[in-house]
Amino acid sequence: MSLRSAALAFLVGATLSTSLLPAMLAAQDSSAAPRRVAIRAAHMIDGRSPRPISNAVVLIEGERITAAGSGLAIPAGTQVIDLGSATILPGLVDCHTHMTSQPTNYYQDLFRRSPIDVAVRSHVYAKRTVEAGFTTVRDVGAGEFIDVALRDAINDGSVEGPRMVVATLTVGATGGHGDISGFSPYIKFGQFSGIADGVDEIRKLVRFEVKNGADVIKMIATAGVLSEEESVGAPQFSAEEMKAVVDEAAMWGRKVAAHAHGAEGIKRAIRAGVASVEHASLIDDEGIRLAKERGTYLVMDVYNDDYILAEYSRLGYPDQIIEKERKVGRMQRESFQRAVRAGAKMAFGTDAGVYPHGWNAKQFAHMVRWGMTPMQAIQAATVNAADLLGWSDRIGALAPGLYADVIAVPGDPLADVTELERVNFVMKGGTVYKKPESVTTSSR
Ligand SMILES: [Zn+2]
Repeated sequence: MSLRSAALAFLVGATLSTSLLPAMLAAQDSSAAPRRVAIRAAHMIDGRSPRPISNAVVLIEGERITAAGSGLAIPAGTQVIDLGSATILPGLVDCHTHMTSQPTNYYQDLFRRSPIDVAVRSHVYAKRTVEAGFTTVRDVGAGEFIDVALRDAINDGSVEGPRMVVATLTVGATGGHGDISGFSPYIKFGQFSGIADGVDEIRKLVRFEVKNGADVIKMIATAGVLSEEESVGAPQFSAEEMKAVVDEAAMWGRKVAAHAHGAEGIKRAIRAGVASVEHASLIDDEGIRLAKERGTYLVMDVYNDDYILAEYSRLGYPDQIIEKERKVGRMQRESFQRAVRAGAKMAFGTDAGVYPHGWNAKQFAHMVRWGMTPMQAIQAATVNAADLLGWSDRIGALAPGLYADVIAVPGDPLADVTELERVNFVMKGGTVYKKPESVTTSSR
């Protein structure tokens, strides 16, 4: 057995649990009629309606929903999954993840881990993510095209994980947040580079990423927190460079997500036409107004600061990074509150990977604490997120024609949004990935 096939056998053996097998076998037998399944639950939040629906029924054929509503009749020959008193919701969407990695120690990760170390772990994070109820992620930055490989392995059923929209390498300036700084100029890291300066280099890099599998382009518009530059918020591309990223991406049918903390860089990115501003920590009132005017989504990761500050000594971040995190964390939450009050478009995104994968839902409580209603927070992670991804015809609601991505929580997430941290049923594309022991399945 070659090293490569041994590694593959390991990956497949370790991750292909029995839940996936029926779907794969069904897929092989193309003559079989699509399986009909009905999910019944006491309550449903469908993603689109402003209020929950009781006595909920979702009818599914194969991987798609055919009907969803209150008290629907269940046709004969349907397998019924009865979730009792639970609340069902559309599969959740995290618009800002880094599913291929999870920091253990800053310098160890930089110097002692190869891309292969990163790649062999990523399927574990994918499984944790889907089992937490996140059936789709927009993964905004990964090295070495590992995100493309992971996405494809999930799509062909080799690995369990969420649907992935992937960005590949972040597009950033020399010395910026996407670069590796703070070392001797003689240290060279031999990875694929997401560094581009000037319009021509930027256009070439975007083309290279699209060629190699990018679904979305991630631009580093300003300095960052978890990197060793001096400033947090300074712009790192000129207006002309940002416009080049957006124009080139649009030529290939790709949207752009802009990493931006500082007020000036945020406005520059919005004016350049990005689909979303990530972090948006120091956004000012003019930036909020511009985002509303242009329909730009804000994707504000208001949970992970808690984790980083609690764990920073174990994670070995340099002092400079921690100083920045302390400064920005609180301000970002205040900015979030102002943006919610102003009615800016918001989509759910957490920077998962900065904190442990599978903890994504911890952010809901923070969004509610800082001004959203539980329904607004849920819609940020369902219908709004689907809109940002350009996937409203596939995900983000329990509605006919969409993928049967259905999750359940035992209690009422509108009364206590932390219920979303207790997802106990997950279906993705009609296949069950997780269900409580007590749930009964019957036929009728
Ligand atoms: Zn990020």
